Amino acid sequence: MSLIVCKFGGTSLADGNNIRRAAEIALSDPSRKFVVVSAPGKRFSEDVKVTDLLYASYTESRDKKGCGEAFARIRKRFCSIVEELGIDFDIGAVLDETQEAIARSDSADFAASRGEYLNARIMAALTGREFVDAKDIIFFDERGMFDEKKSYPRIAERLFAAKEAIVPGFYGTGADGKIRTFSRGGSDISGAIVARAVNADLYENWTDVSGFLACDPRIVQNPQKIEVISFKELRELSYMGANVLHAEAIFPVRKGDIPIRIKNTFRPEDAGTIILPSKKYVPHGNIVTGIAGKKDFTVIYLEKSLMNTEVGFARKALSILERESINFEHMPSGIDTLSLVIESRYLRGGMLDKLIDAMKAELAPDYIRVLEDIALVATVGHGMAQNVGTSARLFNALSESGINVRMIDQGSSELNIIVGIDNADYERCLRAVYHEFFEKQ
Ligand code: ADP
Ligand code: ASP
Ligand code: MG
Repeated sequence: MSLIVCKFGGTSLADGNNIRRAAEIALSDPSRKFVVVSAPGKRFSEDVKVTDLLYASYTESRDKKGCGEAFARIRKRFCSIVEELGIDFDIGAVLDETQEAIARSDSADFAASRGEYLNARIMAALTGREFVDAKDIIFFDERGMFDEKKSYPRIAERLFAAKEAIVPGFYGTGADGKIRTFSRGGSDISGAIVARAVNADLYENWTDVSGFLACDPRIVQNPQKIEVISFKELRELSYMGANVLHAEAIFPVRKGDIPIRIKNTFRPEDAGTIILPSKKYVPHGNIVTGIAGKKDFTVIYLEKSLMNTEVGFARKALSILERESINFEHMPSGIDTLSLVIESRYLRGGMLDKLIDAMKAELAPDYIRVLEDIALVATVGHGMAQNVGTSARLFNALSESGINVRMIDQGSSELNIIVGIDNADYERCLRAVYHEFFEKQ
């Protein structure tokens, strides 16, 4: 029999009815032995995720010594879930303990992790499966990175002993013995780690859409579903903002060659999207597989005659960023030009001016220019390298829509073309590229 690890996302577990549906899905296939759960997400668009309520209760407890007000909403959510499910589970007592623990703790990560913890306890009570706490099997090292050497054997040993289990996503234990979370949306990473640790045949990621779509459905109406996508394409798209799957969830499963299937909890009969290791991937004939993007970048453009002959110019530019612990996203370059694309949030509070001053002093450029409020849009697909004229089609489509391209970066993988445009043109740009490659015949 094959072995499947499934992960249910927050919207799939937002209330009692949805949790019951997820449990039925998990129990309907005996291969689905290990289930990773998120905290309850939004029930409707203005709703607040339990994880956000937990961060609020941490802030309240830090500022006011006690977290009664914010915790009251959390209490209400979980009590109504347990009531709807009609299970024999003393949620009141568990919530009391949790509230006290948050009030005692000095860690936002601990507070945030309790949504997954409580939901997994509830799911375990509902399904009759053992609850295995992520704090006992998932570990981080001193640098705060996932510690695979320590975690994988512990996960495998503990889960195989349980035979079938429910595991909370999003957190584990840090090197200091305290609870530590992944970044937001990190239950996807926990699911991938569990899948790799038990060497699953498949990692099923259950969410609220019927698969990975060729574009963000909140911007393009009814985008085409992607049936098959490679790990490489997925990595580009999820990194660039297609957040249906956390961008770091790919690594554990890619190393183990474990395919991922994205499935819709509300339409389990839909096939969803299968994500395959690049070597098992068979081209589907489309030039472009998908489009994704993110807003709020700053581009620092440097020009200097004979830059190409100045040994170490790029290194010096990057070491200025390194000194200030600033990540850069892209670095498109020409013979005498170099651009650094950086997330704007790193440059607030005078940091941009500090960098510019350092660059003027240490690099002596002929010209330096800053473009702010830039969005990046990536057009991704294995088919792009083989098709002459793809970039011409892309730039034509943008110019026909009156979109001014401020920067271009063609990845050396030939898998993607990234354009920088004004934030204000972001939605229009996605729609124009989608129209060009998916709607035009
Ligand atoms: P979960 O709660 O299951 O973890 P997320 O909210 O993290 O779900 O991810 C699912 C959402 O991702 C969808 O509801 C959709 O709005 C959004 N999304 C953004 N880009 C895409 C895309 N290319 N394909 C599918 N969904 C996308
Ligand atoms: N509950 C966490 C979050 O809201 C993790 C997750 O849902 O994957 O970010
Ligand atoms: Mg998610």
